[in-house]
Amino acid sequence: MEDIHSVLDSIYNKFKDFEDIGEKATYIPELANVDERLFGISLTTVNQRQVNLGDAHQKFSVQSISKVLMLIMAYNLEGDALWQRVDVEPSGAGFNSMILLELEKGIPRNPLINAGAIVIADVLLSHYKDPESEFINFVRRLTNDPTVTFDDKVFESEKGVGYRNYALINMMKSFGNIQNPIDEVMDFYFKICSLSMSCAQLSKTFLFFANDGVDPITNEIILTPSRNKRINAIMLLCGFYDEAGEFAYRVGLPGKSGVGGGILAILPNMYSIVVFSPKLNPKGNSYRGMAFLECLTTELSDSVF
Ligand code: GLN
Repeated sequence: MEDIHSVLDSIYNKFKDFEDIGEKATYIPELANVDERLFGISLTTVNQRQVNLGDAHQKFSVQSISKVLMLIMAYNLEGDALWQRVDVEPSGAGFNSMILLELEKGIPRNPLINAGAIVIADVLLSHYKDPESEFINFVRRLTNDPTVTFDDKVFESEKGVGYRNYALINMMKSFGNIQNPIDEVMDFYFKICSLSMSCAQLSKTFLFFANDGVDPITNEIILTPSRNKRINAIMLLCGFYDEAGEFAYRVGLPGKSGVGGGILAILPNMYSIVVFSPKLNPKGNSYRGMAFLECLTTELSDSVF
């Protein structure tokens, strides 16, 4: 642990004043207001040690990282029947891409792109009377923090400009792959994207992925080992949209990014790590976050390969 701590410290110092050529996600107006200099890191080990650096306690917009949390809930409710509604293949296209949806008759390539997560939101809406409370309670339980909440400003801001996501759901509805009213599904989807959490909270929330699906603190089984393996596999292949190959090549860990600037990554049996830095590369992934993780796994010779 001492080792990881000092390696993290020295890489953090190296990247603190890094020349970040990325751009914030201004297509959601509220995200354009975030201070672009923020930089936080949190690593939690399966034996429950946490290292927090920089702005690790600063809350930010979790965005697409929450797609993984929705997916866990839906997979545990539906089992493998879920894969009739959404596939598990990398898309090789942007997170909000429309192009394959028509060709593939309204079945999204995977649950970690927008179209796939919208189907997952629809699945949860079919199961729960109050999916929003079910979702936030699930996250609070994993994080062991009852204060975790959504950011209503981000929610309203994204909903006001969500044209592309409405186009995706309409296309899927036309193929019969959406069961609930479009506005209800979209409100729930935008709510989930507006989840607001810090690196320190998130690295704790996702720790069970590094521990065969079992929360090492409470011993609760969140996913069976087989399902845990499968969702880790989906993250590795689909967690970074059309940059999933690049992330696997440079970093070598399963993970998930969000346009709020967060990146989550898992080293099985060892740790979960979350990096937050708001400026994104053209594929929508944190520019400094990716560079930081590449440096970390290279220096520690840690990866799943
Ligand atoms: N809420 C965002 C959207 O739907 C999520 C995208 C992301 O984080 N990649 O566009």
